[in-house]
Amino acid sequence: MTDRGLTSRQGTLAIVAGATSAGAQHGPGPSPAVMPTYARQDLVFARGEGAWLETEAGERYLDLASGVAVNALGHAHPRLVAALREQAGKLWHTSNLYRVEGQERVAERLVELTFADRVFFCNSGAEACEGAIKTARRYHHVNGAPERWRIITFEGAFHGRTLATLAAGGNPKYLDGFGPEAPGFDHVPFGDHEALERAVGPETAAIMIEPVQGEGGVRVVPDQCLKGLRDLCDDKGLLLIFDEVQTGIGRTGRLFAHEWAGIAPDIMAVAKGIGGGFPVGAFLATEAAASGMTAGTHGSTFGGNPLAMAVADAVLDVVTEPGFLAEVQQKTSRFKQALEGLRDQFPDKIAEVRGQGLLMGLRLVPGLAPPQLVKAAIEERLLLVGAGDNVVRILPPLNITDEEIGQTAERLMRSLERLPAAAAT
Ligand SMILES: *Cc1c(COP(=O)(O)O)cnc(C)c1O
Repeated sequence: MTDRGLTSRQGTLAIVAGATSAGAQHGPGPSPAVMPTYARQDLVFARGEGAWLETEAGERYLDLASGVAVNALGHAHPRLVAALREQAGKLWHTSNLYRVEGQERVAERLVELTFADRVFFCNSGAEACEGAIKTARRYHHVNGAPERWRIITFEGAFHGRTLATLAAGGNPKYLDGFGPEAPGFDHVPFGDHEALERAVGPETAAIMIEPVQGEGGVRVVPDQCLKGLRDLCDDKGLLLIFDEVQTGIGRTGRLFAHEWAGIAPDIMAVAKGIGGGFPVGAFLATEAAASGMTAGTHGSTFGGNPLAMAVADAVLDVVTEPGFLAEVQQKTSRFKQALEGLRDQFPDKIAEVRGQGLLMGLRLVPGLAPPQLVKAAIEERLLLVGAGDNVVRILPPLNITDEEIGQTAERLMRSLERLPAAAAT
């Protein structure tokens, strides 16, 4: 407590020496001890169940953000809780110097369920994307084309916040002030086929893309384009990398979004939903694409730890149950109908309904901004999440009930009523 005086002079702390009440020891509002890199809502949740989050005071919010597509099975799913509890009493960590049973099991399941032959486990989406990038570069390095190391990515993309994934995403706002951008990424406009073909050169190693841009504003890449990318990569000897960190694990109504297009990548990054709220990431590759990733080329202290693997295994149990994904598709239709209805009802506020599966977005008309709707929804005890392209994302847990979909539509309607009519443009 000796250094508290340093911050209290900023007038932001109201410390009562020896305060013992639950919660942080400072005045109302967020603690200045936490680095203020997020524009947070002033909301603290104490517990969650299914699609619901509850404050200490017992106020219940309908969570249609799912921790930004992370709590794919809602909060405190009994099977996930049981899996974590059971593993927690047995073994947490052994380092990757030894075989990890859970890792082998989850990897084999993923191999069984996807195009991939090899899986590396990490802890986050950015790490998964970094690993995917490294895998692509190493592939060419060990296959006689070390000059191929550049990756083509798309404007509006989001691949994470590490130095390489920031450079991959290319968002100038996120890159500002962090020194020279990591080299090796060529950005092309979203949906510009000619620019894409022009960008392919003798140094190109791979094309990396989200099948649906999440942070970028729920921009769906048409199946035709994904097929076109596959053909282009095959033609030019490039690897195709899909970032399915947000779209994977059932979010779009298939286990992975690219399945809708009937093609497969060479490498894929996965995270978010696969841990159902526990930090788990992974990158997957075909045997050929993974050929450079030999002993010593990559590592992670925590990646694939027994706790993470126990939860991922349980998540896979649930999402691969017969009928689970069909139900996600049915819920998608219900949502779509409700959202289209709201668009008809509020043409002066909603410009467009977007999405694939339960990765949905409302694009607002010019003059309205996503934070306005997010804020209005909080007033209605509904949690949404903003995105680029003037879009508000709706990311329910995949097992949301029909009744909760109805409640969402009602709360959304009342939230939209709270918005001012946008100035005519
Ligand atoms: C969230 C996200 C990431 C980054 O994941 P982190 O776990 O925050 O590092 C990468 N790619 C996509 C598509 C994402 O949605």
